Amino acid sequence: MRLIVPHRGELQGPDERLLRLAEFLGIVCQPLALSAGTSSPIPFFEKLAAEGDSCLVVNPGVIKSWLDAPGLPEDLGRCWISRFCGLFVHNLLPDPFAESVVRALSGGRIDGIGLAEDKTSSYTISAAGRGITGPFTGLTFGPAHPGERVFEVRNGALGVVPLISIAGRVSLAISTRETNRTCFLGGADLVDLNSDVASAQLADYFSQIVPPVMALRALCPDACWVPNRPHGTLIIDDPLLQKNYGFMNYERLLALMDQFNFHTTIAFIPHNYRRSSAGVVRMFHARPDRLSICYHGNDHSGAEFAERNLGKLNAVLSLAETRMGEHAMRTGIECNRVMVFPQGEFSPEAMAALQAHNFIAAVNTSPYAAGEAACLPLFHVMQPAVQRFDGFPLFLRRYVRDFRPEDIACHVFFGRSILMVEHHDIFQDPRSLIDLVSRINELVPEMHWCPLQAAVSNSYLMRSAGEGVVAVRMFSPEGSLRNSADTATQVSIEWEQGGSLVDKLFVNDAPAANAVRGDTRTSVRFHLAPGESSKFRIVFRNDLPESGYRFGRKWKAKALLRRRLSEFRDNYLSKNPALLSAAKALQRRFLGKVAG
Ligand SMILES: [Zn+2]
Repeated sequence: MRLIVPHRGELQGPDERLLRLAEFLGIVCQPLALSAGTSSPIPFFEKLAAEGDSCLVVNPGVIKSWLDAPGLPEDLGRCWISRFCGLFVHNLLPDPFAESVVRALSGGRIDGIGLAEDKTSSYTISAAGRGITGPFTGLTFGPAHPGERVFEVRNGALGVVPLISIAGRVSLAISTRETNRTCFLGGADLVDLNSDVASAQLADYFSQIVPPVMALRALCPDACWVPNRPHGTLIIDDPLLQKNYGFMNYERLLALMDQFNFHTTIAFIPHNYRRSSAGVVRMFHARPDRLSICYHGNDHSGAEFAERNLGKLNAVLSLAETRMGEHAMRTGIECNRVMVFPQGEFSPEAMAALQAHNFIAAVNTSPYAAGEAACLPLFHVMQPAVQRFDGFPLFLRRYVRDFRPEDIACHVFFGRSILMVEHHDIFQDPRSLIDLVSRINELVPEMHWCPLQAAVSNSYLMRSAGEGVVAVRMFSPEGSLRNSADTATQVSIEWEQGGSLVDKLFVNDAPAANAVRGDTRTSVRFHLAPGESSKFRIVFRNDLPESGYRFGRKWKAKALLRRRLSEFRDNYLSKNPALLSAAKALQRRFLGKVAG
């Protein structure tokens, strides 16, 4: 299936942005230059459609300038509907030609293109098209942008389904006939995927990206990358594995998880590797379905991963791994190979160091490295992970209070795992957490709560590559896939990580025979019998400099003091607000920032 994008002169404006979006989703696009004037448009399109399954983009402005007619000829509309599998009708400006297009292509059921005027109106996602609107189905949120394009769908019109409305008028509708689907897209102008955005909150761009993606996925279902089943976890930063930590008590946490159904990954500070209590360790062994740990820095000293010296980062990561190796020996608990940055600060070099140490991902609240301007190209947040650092994946997490229902839907729609972050103090009154978890489980019944490593390695995209091959875009360098179908399949996995640092690629612990390594991409292909699972991993070479860095006595004493002060704050001061603010002032004076 290809998307044909007609244009006059240079391909530009909304059509160019649509083409970029379609290519980002995996659709093969064919720009089609319409030369001046034609006397026989119908044979022209019949010939085009005969070349293979295709979806035609209809921009009324382009068609009008080509035909030089006052309205769309009805027989041309009938030709498009009968010859093309899909029609993507967009850039609907309130003018007579555009109205003639929507009337002709909807069999007279849509007309009256106008602009939404009310600044307080919301988007309402209908319950009628769950297969297309997915996790947004049934939601109402806003405000909608003033000036968005809307149209009238006749009440009870057969065959035309309104999907998104603004103040009672429709901004996305679909009509389905025997061999054709047509999407009518109003709403706001499409956004350029490469435009820098200051907010990583995708829902802020809802009408500029989500309805066109819904329409493209509906029209070209087999061509588009689609996300795997949604995965997620709650991440609690800093606690030790001891019965109580501040307001958090492991038994009460487990009871909450069992009652409301979620998983918790403790972001564990390796400095604390000798202090886990036997009782809590037993809980981790008894309930791996509910409890896991991942790395949270090494000492959790002031912004230790904002460091830019690769030798020092190498030494810090080696020490953290030694400590967690020792912790695993003592407790039998394996630490997820995912780094949650302490205090949310990291450098690009820290990402490179994590890759060299074969971590599978980093997790942070902000996508920006320390000192970097807060803006990034939009497409980075329209996929499971941000990959601005030589492909090493950065997964984004968010505080409970910052997850609105439309954010949950955006995450699931684009395949981003749902990673909630909190500290022990959320358990002083966990109602907001419980409300969010309940909302997620209600909106996303297929949600799979699991350890952080499983959540990130299962956040991938897939699509059919034809002839029984399933293509997979992986973001974490390690994972596993299962063939749940009852026929054998070929799996073709690709990563946007490559170059000379890729050392080996394993499938089921054996070197993969057919791995392909490029400068920026790596791929592998293997066979999966029905019901069979395979695991795979890329192993990176550690070429980081040996710094000869020594952790001296003064450094150790300071790290210890910081940890003990932080724990004193969480366990005692946090329960006494007046004391806490006095302590914070003292702390700033002597140690700089300890919190996080
Ligand atoms: Zn922390």
